Amino acid sequence: MPVSALSVIKSDSPEKWQVILSDLITDPKELLQILELDPPTEEISESTLKQFPLRAPRPYVARIEKGNWKDPLLRQLWPSYLEDQSPPDYSIDPLIESLSNPVPGLLHKYSGRVLLTPTAQCAIHCRYCFRRHFDYQLNTPSRSGWNGALNYIRQDHSIVEVIYSGGDPLAAADRHLAWLTKQIAQISHVKILRIHTRLPLLIPQRVNQTLVDWLTRTRLKVVLVLHVNHPKELDQQVISAINTLDANGITILNQSVILKDVNDNSRILAELSQALFSINVLPYYLHTLDKVLGVAHFDLREKEALRIIDELQKILPGYLVPRLVREVPGMESKTTLA
Ligand SMILES: *Cc1c(COP(=O)(O)O)cnc(C)c1O
Ligand code: SF4
Repeated sequence: MPVSALSVIKSDSPEKWQVILSDLITDPKELLQILELDPPTEEISESTLKQFPLRAPRPYVARIEKGNWKDPLLRQLWPSYLEDQSPPDYSIDPLIESLSNPVPGLLHKYSGRVLLTPTAQCAIHCRYCFRRHFDYQLNTPSRSGWNGALNYIRQDHSIVEVIYSGGDPLAAADRHLAWLTKQIAQISHVKILRIHTRLPLLIPQRVNQTLVDWLTRTRLKVVLVLHVNHPKELDQQVISAINTLDANGITILNQSVILKDVNDNSRILAELSQALFSINVLPYYLHTLDKVLGVAHFDLREKEALRIIDELQKILPGYLVPRLVREVPGMESKTTLA
């Protein structure tokens, strides 16, 4: 395993996450060469490539099986021509998040919780991402630009939890995150900081001492929600990054999206829950796909998702079965389907 990982890491110092993050694979040709898939079996979508470019971190690509178009990790990042489809019920902002965006950088949809977007950047472009058309220009304020969001939280005493969401919040510099967290920790009614991130599994080197320092020094209770979709996303380096977070007392949950031809299978999802549990990560949500333009080829019928959950319930103890949820615009929480 380390041999293939090294072979795709071009940078001189593979231990520095910033170097790896600045050296993503963005050229489809390079990706295909590394994966020995040249010429491609599945054409690229030139139009979506401009709007939502290819981004693939090398440590993640190292886990993709060479020569295999059906690899579940490759499916998640390949900008396929299938993205050009536009079925009638798909749109740019299916969740109507623009209505819950009272100040730049902050979304307030659910009672007691607000979501902040500390950075527009991601270490990968997940092709199924529901924020692929989100206006990050407007929603990633500079330092002084955060005053609006911080004042909003100060004034609303019902807010007990602040959630860092994406982009991928851990793509931001620790200096910035530590600063923002300190501002939030000074607001006494906020008790919990939740971080939704894929970085520890994309670039496990991200979990370093600097990160652990600010995560463990804040008075806030920290909850980390990973987005692992497939057990193959967990290699030894990822596991040791997660072990580090766990050893430092951070509660870690996982959410996945159920995706056609990636993880729409009870055996794979059971294996994922078991692999996560063995490293102290509990399954939280299994999201159905949000109908954003460009993702229709990942969709599966709700009936099919329910059948898979039903099978999972027969294989796993209840605490290892994620809650199947859908996001319905205007609802005061996610809607549980099973
Ligand atoms: C999912 C979500 C939350 C958190 O919801 P939980 O059910 O507490 O996980 C908060 N804000 C937004 C905008 C969300 O989409
Ligand atoms: S990391 Fe999250 S925000 Fe970024 S592309 Fe993937 S799903 Fe979207």
